[in-house]
Amino acid sequence: MSLGSGLARGLAITLRAMTRRAVTQQYPERMPELPPRTRGVIALFEENCTVCMLCARECPDWCIYIDSHKETLPPAAPGGRERSRNVLDRFAIDFALCMYCGICVEVCPFDALFWSPEFEYATTDIRELTHERDTLREWMWTVPEPPPLDPAAEEPKEIATARKAAEKAAEKAAEKAAEGEGRERT
Ligand code: SF4
Ligand code: SF4
Repeated sequence: MSLGSGLARGLAITLRAMTRRAVTQQYPERMPELPPRTRGVIALFEENCTVCMLCARECPDWCIYIDSHKETLPPAAPGGRERSRNVLDRFAIDFALCMYCGICVEVCPFDALFWSPEFEYATTDIRELTHERDTLREWMWTVPEPPPLDPAAEEPKEIATARKAAEKAAEKAAEKAAEGEGRERT
């Protein structure tokens, strides 16, 4: 390729790039629109956590730290046995070690861990990348709503169970009300 044609080709490429629309986004003035399944950070819905330790055991980086203690509860019925349950004392994730594989979110049997698109937690001190339960809970409010079900999809088990229980309760209440009306008439 001669010098002249090389120069012309170079100039043509520069001209093309100059007239193309810029794709740069002016972050942080303009926040990026992230897809709903973005893996920004892991959020904890503490109420669902039973301290089963599955997430901590399955994490390939051993970066989930959980502490708990046992609490004794009185028997559910008179004469029954006392029950014990785990109470969460600490739940922390070290995001300096985390490789965002998502195994913890996948294996949690109680839907206590979720992906949040939140990404603004960069820090200059690596020790500040260990985030405790309060921060993990705050991130819970940034988790997007799940997409609506396909109209032909089966009703989810939890919703079907809750619906059946509500229907039964409504039936019982209606029966009781009818019985009460019958007694009043006689
Ligand atoms: S995303 Fe992967 S590496 Fe990070 S805490 Fe969960 S299991 Fe561990
Ligand atoms: S797997 Fe889920 S329920 Fe079990 S300890 Fe982890 S977050 Fe809690």
